[in-house]
Order: sequence, then C-alpha cells, then structure tokens
Amino acid sequence: MRAILTLNAGSSSLKLGLFSEALETLGTGHVDRIGGEGRLKVLDGQGQPLPVPALGPEAFARHGAALATALEVFRVDFPALEIVAVGHRVVHGGTRHGAPERITEALMQELAALAPFAPLHQPHNLAGVRAALEAFAEAPQIACFDTAFHRNHPFVNDTFALPRSYYDKGVRRYGFHGLSYDYITGELARTEPALHAGRVVVAHLGSGASMCAIQGGRSVASTMGFSALDGLPMGTRSGQIDPGVLLYLMDQEGMTSAQISDLLYKDSGLKGLSGISNDMRELEGSDDPHAKDAIDYFTFRIRRELGGLAASMGGIDALVFCGGIGENSALVRARVCEGMEWIGITLDAEANAANAREIAHGPVRVLTIPTNEEIVIALAAQALLTA
Ligand code: ADP
Repeated sequence: MRAILTLNAGSSSLKLGLFSEALETLGTGHVDRIGGEGRLKVLDGQGQPLPVPALGPEAFARHGAALATALEVFRVDFPALEIVAVGHRVVHGGTRHGAPERITEALMQELAALAPFAPLHQPHNLAGVRAALEAFAEAPQIACFDTAFHRNHPFVNDTFALPRSYYDKGVRRYGFHGLSYDYITGELARTEPALHAGRVVVAHLGSGASMCAIQGGRSVASTMGFSALDGLPMGTRSGQIDPGVLLYLMDQEGMTSAQISDLLYKDSGLKGLSGISNDMRELEGSDDPHAKDAIDYFTFRIRRELGGLAASMGGIDALVFCGGIGENSALVRARVCEGMEWIGITLDAEANAANAREIAHGPVRVLTIPTNEEIVIALAAQALLTA
C-alpha cells in the first residue's frame, strides 16, 4: 500500500495522518508524552479506534521512536505499507517562504535559524522532520508553513511601530494558523466562489485561536503577530496584552523571561481567567462565575477583532467559524454574533443550535466549516509525487 504521511510534531507530541495517493484518509495517530511514559491513539480511515498494544516508555523515547511505534499499529491494517511522500507542518517559514517547500539540508538549516522566532515550536517541528528523514530516506518530503498564507500582508499589517531596523531583522507580524485558513479559502473557492472573491473573516477557534481577514482569497490581516501569543485569548495563552504589563512583571515582580513565557503560554487565557480549565466544554458546563468571565472575555475579544478585521477590508461579506470551538460550540458562536446586527450579522438561532453550515440570515453570511489542516499538507506532499 503506497501512502502519504503527514506529521505535526510538538515538544512532546506527534500527530500523524496517513493518506492514499488519491488523498483518502487511511488513518490518523496522536502520540502524547514523548520522552515520558508515552500514550498513543490511532484511528482508522472511518475514525474508529485501532487496538494499541501495551508499550513501554522506550517505544516513545523520542520523536523517531514514537513515529515507528505509531506506524507499527497502522501496519496491522496495511502490512505492505510504503510511505512514498511526507508532508510536515512547520510553524515558521520566516520572510522568505510563502509556499510549501521541498525539504533539503539547506532548507533545514534555514528553518533551524528561525528557531529564535518560535522557540517553543520550531525546534520540535524540525525534530519531527529529522525523524522522518531518517525513517524514510527515499521519500520526498515537504515543509508546509503556518506563516506562509499571510506572507503578502500590506506593510501596515506586517510591521510594528518600532525603529525600522527591527522590521529588517524580521520582527514582524507573521500570523499563524495559515494551513487552516488555506483550507477554508480553498473550500470557499470550491463551494462559494462569490464569497471567495469577496471579504471574509475566518475565526479559527481551537486550543489556539486566531482570526484572519481574507479578501479575494488572500490574507490581508491576522490577529496573531510576531508570535502565536497575540490577538485572541486562547486555551492557555493570554492573547493581546499591553507590553507595559511585561515590563511591570520584570521590573516589579522580578520575573525572568522563562517565567513570563510560562505565564503567557501555559497559565493564561481561558485557564488563567477561569482558574478552572482551558477546555471550553468544561467552562460551558460550569456554573462558576469565573468560567462565565472567561467565556465573556473570549467572545468579547472575538467581537472586537471582528470589527477591526472587517474595517481592514472596508467591510465584510461573510464570517466563517472553524476549529474545535468554532465548529462545535453553539454558545460561543451565538455570543460572538450577539449585538452584531450593525455589521450585518443576524444569527439564525435554530440553525446555529443545530450546528448547521449556514447559521445567519442577515446580509453578512455566517458559516461553520470544519477545517482540515492535514489535507492541505497531504495535498502539498501529493504534488511532490507528480513534480
Ligand atoms: P487544537 O488547537 O488543539 O487542534 P481543537 O481545534 O481540537 O484544538 O479545539 C479544542 C477546543 O475545542 C477545546 O477548548 C474544546 O473544549 C473545544 N470543543 C470541542 N468540542 C466542543 C463542543 N462540543 N463544545 C464546546 N467546545 C468544544
């Protein structure tokens, strides 16, 4: 069985997608706690769990071991599995990479040099690439960048008001979640060509969350900036914060950059505000007033950004929700659309409660479209086979 593999490697996690050459999903895998006791979940092409044997920590010692372990489980269903191309999610492509790129040693070195821009993600993404290069030396491999979709932002949406030398050194608003926005844009081109040609705000609301203004299929502004911390509050990330707060934490509370990094990436957002959980389902089910505060803040910031992003395009024709929260939480969607009649959004409460695709009946359309970042990566990897 010839198959395309997609990989998304985090610090202690690895997400795998297995596709046929015609891009049917053959299976997905999720490894957690790499370097620790390890945990593996594998689903077949229909989303049904596959049995995973009892495994010791050595099966998950590093990304390479975790990859081999997950593939062994797939091999029960596909004994003659042959990986013919591999696509990787890489968070940062810097200023030079606006499209997926075939992996070479020169590209690896260039991407490694971008690690200071995304220290919590880039090195781990590249560890996944190294593991796959070792495991599948013969297969062509491609890097797909979360920043790429935003590469052609106009200057005013690409810069900070710092001395120009910082811009030249790469201190810019890159924007992330580009693979998800790429997928949604492709779906609109296929199913809603008039909207694709128009002005759309996409709200990708998952554990990480951002929004993007897309005009004529191109990103013009995004809520995420230099790092994946900016913009909306997220599961555990703060989102936009006055930089004066960081100066205060350093100068008055004596916090180090590592402590501030932990605070902003791991202990803030929905988790920090609620003091309960980073998981929207849990917050929705809680009657603690702090859970309500967290949902209020989350949806308030989305509405604020929605107004700003619409202004950046001179108006809006559609709002699209995607990501775990955007696709599943009728409550969050309703709260975001509340009081937005001024912009042309009138929610259809019944359609929203039913998780329908079309959930408003005002002049601005509101759609829920399940995103699929893996298929965007698989498509890029498939292109390698015909190149
Ligand atoms: P990731 O960014 O890790 O891929 P997801 O896109 O899977 O994250 O989104 C995870 C978020 O989606 C969690 O906050 C989870 O609570 C939320 N979520 C998933 N299903 C629902 C649901 N039915 N109602 C509300 N929130 C949901």
